[in-house]
Amino acid sequence: MAWDFSTDPDFEADLGWVRRFVDDTILPLELAGEGLNQRQLDALWAPFKQQVKERGLWAAHLPPAHGGCGMGQLRLALLHEVLGRSVLAPEIFGCQAPDSGNAELLAAGANAEQARRWLEPLLAGHVRSTFALTEPHNSGSDPTGITTRCEREGEEWVINGHKWFASNASVSDFMIVMAVTDPEAPPHRRAAMLVVPCRHPGVVLVRDVGSMHHPLAGDALMDRIGGHTEVRFENCRVPLDHLIGAPGDGFVLAQKRLGGGRIHHAMRCIGQADRALEMMLERAVSRDTRDRPLAKQQLVQEMIAESSAELEMARLLVLRAAWRMDQQGDYSREARSEIAMVKFVVPRTLLTIIDRAIQVHGALGYTTDMPLEEMYRVARALRIADGADEVHKQTVARELTRGMAAVAEPSEYVPARRRRAGELFGERVREIRATVS
Ligand SMILES: Cc1cc2nc3c(=O)[nH]c(=O)nc-3n(C[C@H](O)[C@H](O)[C@H](O)COP(=O)(O)OP(=O)(O)OC[C@H]3O[C@@H](n4cnc5c(N)ncnc54)[C@H](O)[C@@H]3O)c2cc1C
Repeated sequence: MAWDFSTDPDFEADLGWVRRFVDDTILPLELAGEGLNQRQLDALWAPFKQQVKERGLWAAHLPPAHGGCGMGQLRLALLHEVLGRSVLAPEIFGCQAPDSGNAELLAAGANAEQARRWLEPLLAGHVRSTFALTEPHNSGSDPTGITTRCEREGEEWVINGHKWFASNASVSDFMIVMAVTDPEAPPHRRAAMLVVPCRHPGVVLVRDVGSMHHPLAGDALMDRIGGHTEVRFENCRVPLDHLIGAPGDGFVLAQKRLGGGRIHHAMRCIGQADRALEMMLERAVSRDTRDRPLAKQQLVQEMIAESSAELEMARLLVLRAAWRMDQQGDYSREARSEIAMVKFVVPRTLLTIIDRAIQVHGALGYTTDMPLEEMYRVARALRIADGADEVHKQTVARELTRGMAAVAEPSEYVPARRRRAGELFGERVREIRATVS
């Protein structure tokens, strides 16, 4: 009987160190970087990244062969819960999206020479990367519809197309671009992944799109991480060895960067929700109205209790999905279904809890004097990014109904169950009627 919710003491000690480091150093560091460009930020952050490396927690998502800790999904989930308290913490720990997913993709698909050129510097934190799949004029929910083309001409691939939401492209060194190599192939064998330097002939970085996160980004490039870049490829040429795996492997490789990443994202949301709940509690005991603290008002108590219960439910769901991945493999059917559940349940829970925390703070919660309004705007993206809620709900429903046979009559149909009860127990019931008054 293994049903244990405790954390190993040695890992608990690591988590304690991370928690102190995040709260005492990284949260203040977030505000110290206001107004700096990316080169200035990199200089500011460098010593703290070094501290994480010295503690052995750098790029923890990868196996030791690729410089990670090989700690498994459950421990990673617990680590990301703490990192989630700060939007900057994943960067300082070398496990920020999209670099982490790209590293997983390269670890799975790159040959030795490609790994030396792109994976190693990425893992060391010497370069930044971007993932460019989504296109403005095609549904990102169905990537078989992408139209960015990649055609072979002699010893080069020639790329033409239009992407957007290529996060961080304006400050990255290279992009992993998904493009169609063979439009006639079966839908999931049409596309490939290619490494394309971000500053390269034929790559046009159009703008970092203004968004809920960066409403003022406008039509410029932000010159710092966090932008969602629109990119055009205009006869962009790269050597043949820039293609990862084989032409047609694009969808298989795309999967390699998603499973674990979704769990890490989800646990970071749990960390954010926890922080929002802490703010809610602090405000509830500190603000009086009608001669007593908000915490004594029943409707505020309801918000606190519901938030705490919903957070705990969501947390356990993510931890079970992580445990499932450790037990049965990242791509087992059960793990896929649970990851999909986590993907739509957790952002919804986070948004609800931040919203309640804003409510309990009143006007203060709506202002930029508190982090809640920004947390809410950033969290809203998670119902869309990495697959819209609806797509993940569809996955869960598909898995649950897979292989179920249609029936002529519901198996719970009461008249039929009554008949069956008569067949099984009728004689006994007749005896009892005859002998027991
Ligand atoms: C903050 C942020 C960062 C991102 N970073 C990246 C990145 O780094 N690289 C990258 O390539 N992309 C990135 N994306 C893009 C993201 O992956 C896509 O936005 C997402 O896949 C949805 O695609 P779409 O925007 O084209 O919406 P669409 O596919 O057009 O979907 C729009 C809506 O239609 C509905 N819908 C879609 N499919 C179904 C369905 N099967 N059933 C019912 N309803 C459905 C949903 O309500 C959905 O929200 C990012 C997005 C955001 C918001």
